[in-house]
Amino acid sequence: MNEILQVKHLKKSYENNEPVLKDIDFSLQKGEVVVIVGPSGCGKSTFLRCLNLLEPIDEGSIILNGETIDRKDKNVHQHRQKIGMVFQSYELFPHLSIMKNILLAPVKVQKRNRKEAEKEAEVLLERVGLSDKKDAFPRQLSGGQKQRVAIVRALIMHPEVLLLDEITAALDPEMVREVLQVVLKLAEDGMTMAIVTHEMEFAKAVADRVIFMDQGVIVEENRTKNFFAYPQTERAKQFLNTFHYEALEI
Ligand code: ADP
Repeated sequence: MNEILQVKHLKKSYENNEPVLKDIDFSLQKGEVVVIVGPSGCGKSTFLRCLNLLEPIDEGSIILNGETIDRKDKNVHQHRQKIGMVFQSYELFPHLSIMKNILLAPVKVQKRNRKEAEKEAEVLLERVGLSDKKDAFPRQLSGGQKQRVAIVRALIMHPEVLLLDEITAALDPEMVREVLQVVLKLAEDGMTMAIVTHEMEFAKAVADRVIFMDQGVIVEENRTKNFFAYPQTERAKQFLNTFHYEALEI
């Protein structure tokens, strides 16, 4: 099996509170798209943040390409660059143009040649339909456009794995689609991704596999079609039913 990322017995709590993640085992194959779903507060975001080494873990290991990675490791920056992350809030610098926002990490952190990185940024902006925005400032862009820039900013670092944490949750409905289409295209192109989303139709379309979490544990894991058609546990059934009712109410 061609596993890029493996997580073994991951445990995590915040400040001596109840554990938020209780013994998580997880793996991601190269080119695979896994969607993580579950009720609010069950630990999805914490899990992604642990994978990106933004949060310290209490126990367990995170293994990238066969190598255990650790926040205290001297190579933490290199490891983190291999795992890109896009957040709900785009976190663009307001005083920098879109191009400068995108170039900041490759030029300052990776010390890449500016011209070469700029060329790549142009190609990526074109790919997400924003060629004409490179000189604009974040305030001149819609939420959906800003989120597409945030995706470009992650991609230019050439991550081996991309983590997406509720990237459409703060967007108006008409902008959700344009962002999700970019992600669908990335999946088609073979990007390895772990995605947290509440967009169940999108999950059905993009995921190879679905993981259902509740209260800090992986309750159920299945191929996408099976998960939605035949959820195995009562908790997953109840969770999916809430989306059904929401859809009916609209
Ligand atoms: P989800 O993404 O599934 O909504 P989170 O990972 O955001 O869940 O949160 C899981 C639990 O951890 C929640 O009870 C939340 O309140 C708590 N939590 C999240 N971040 C922090 C933090 N920085 N400090 C303390 N508690 C936190």
